[in-house]
Amino acid sequence: MAYVISDACVSCGTCEGECPVGAISAGDGQYVIDADACVDCGTCAAACPVGAINA
Ligand code: SF4
Ligand code: SF4
Repeated sequence: MAYVISDACVSCGTCEGECPVGAISAGDGQYVIDADACVDCGTCAAACPVGAINA
């Protein structure tokens, strides 16, 4: 079960640089997590300033 970015994302880009496996990228209107690459570490969820990332 990978982490998921909700529509609360404000595209600040903070999470992209925090992911140890490069699973996060800028999508259409918000950032997205590649579910196949995510290793469920939770780092991005802790780093997001608006709480948009959840398990
Ligand atoms: S939970 Fe960890 S591996 Fe998955 S997207 Fe977030 S920072 Fe990357
Ligand atoms: S840190 Fe949160 S608000 Fe910023 S791009 Fe990532 S998911 Fe969106």
